[in-house]
Amino acid sequence: MHSHVIRYATATIVAFTCVFAQVGHAADTLIHAGRVITAEGDEILEKVTIIVREGKIAAIQDGFIVVNQGDTVFDLREYTVMPGLMDMHTHLITQHHEKVYSDKFFMSEADFALRSVHYARLTLLAGFTTVRDVGDNGGNSVALRRAIEAGWIVGPRIFTSGKSLATTGGHADPTNGLQGDFKRDAGPVEGVINGPDEARKGVRQRYKDGADLIKLTATGGVLSLAASGDNPQFTMEELRAIVETARDYNMTVAVHAHGAEGMKRAVLAGVDSIEHGTYMTEEIMALMKERGTYLVPTILAGVWVAEKAKEEGYFPSVVRPKAAAIGPVIQETFAKAYAYGVNIAFGTDSGVSPHGENAREFELMVAGGMDPLEAIRAATYHGAKLLRVEDRLGTVTAGKIADLVAVKGNPLDDVSLMRDVRFVMKEGVVYKHDPK
Ligand SMILES: [Zn+2]
Repeated sequence: MHSHVIRYATATIVAFTCVFAQVGHAADTLIHAGRVITAEGDEILEKVTIIVREGKIAAIQDGFIVVNQGDTVFDLREYTVMPGLMDMHTHLITQHHEKVYSDKFFMSEADFALRSVHYARLTLLAGFTTVRDVGDNGGNSVALRRAIEAGWIVGPRIFTSGKSLATTGGHADPTNGLQGDFKRDAGPVEGVINGPDEARKGVRQRYKDGADLIKLTATGGVLSLAASGDNPQFTMEELRAIVETARDYNMTVAVHAHGAEGMKRAVLAGVDSIEHGTYMTEEIMALMKERGTYLVPTILAGVWVAEKAKEEGYFPSVVRPKAAAIGPVIQETFAKAYAYGVNIAFGTDSGVSPHGENAREFELMVAGGMDPLEAIRAATYHGAKLLRVEDRLGTVTAGKIADLVAVKGNPLDDVSLMRDVRFVMKEGVVYKHDPK
């Protein structure tokens, strides 16, 4: 743990102003912030004190102040403070490597779960205080979420879909590519559905498993052991049944989609977000804009698989041509969708690329034409909106949960600074303060 709690002597405080009536209140945690990107519109604050009390942002005051003598002060006068970052597309339970396809035969559920503890910690320390996890092996991300909530381990706040829904042979069918006894006919309990009735059962099973939202794979995907990376894999009836049932349980629906036909069907069925969005047409952009459907671009995953596709033997032969074709397109599509005015929420598909490197996505978004401030808002304000938690997360605002991160310098001038988060607070607890 790199956390240092620093208690400044009163003499080192730049300006001592006892402005509050609550003298005698239990000590607060104060952040002296040189600059704050609140993520409320384009608001930037300078030289303010953020007062954190009982896990929440109690107030933001002009100047560098202290409230009580016992207050803990973090000197971030050389830093830019932002809301805790939110990644809308992670897979904490896995991380890609050359032999990943055989992991499920040699790793137990306990192995997967314990390894994910490490990935969760890396993710939090990189500044990502909230993630939406969109596809695990069968509920192990729910266990990870519970362990973090209980305080047994350190990691981001998790909203998870549990196991993704697929159709037989589709992108998240867990028996793809297997032979002999392994080639089972997986059903709704394992997330494989065919027809509206099984679709409903698939959703209800995820609810029973403790999932927070639904993820489905509307088209083929790059890394599955199947030929097509982009064909439609759900019927309109199946998609409607999933969305309707998800609403009964107050769950949102995230949709993996590369190909246009499956993507269009999903948008028309009323889903909340399209993940990747590779072959998105202008017609689909118009539909998404009209409905407020989010695109979660995962440019980093596209770049990563395109790089690995160049390495002889890294991917199985059925995967390699898909990775080479689809990977490079994602950034171009993101650029077009952003210019068109589609809602964008930050997401990386970490678990394809290594956990803890999530912030590489910022540079890729900016290279795709996005303003750095908008990229930061995509990873804060818009993430909270997509998760429907904007009443308590996503901006630096009095009354919200104190999830705050900081980088040294100004990320609006150099967005690569986002890769070097030096301060991480989640719900008022400091997990990292690395003032080198
Ligand atoms: Zn993914």
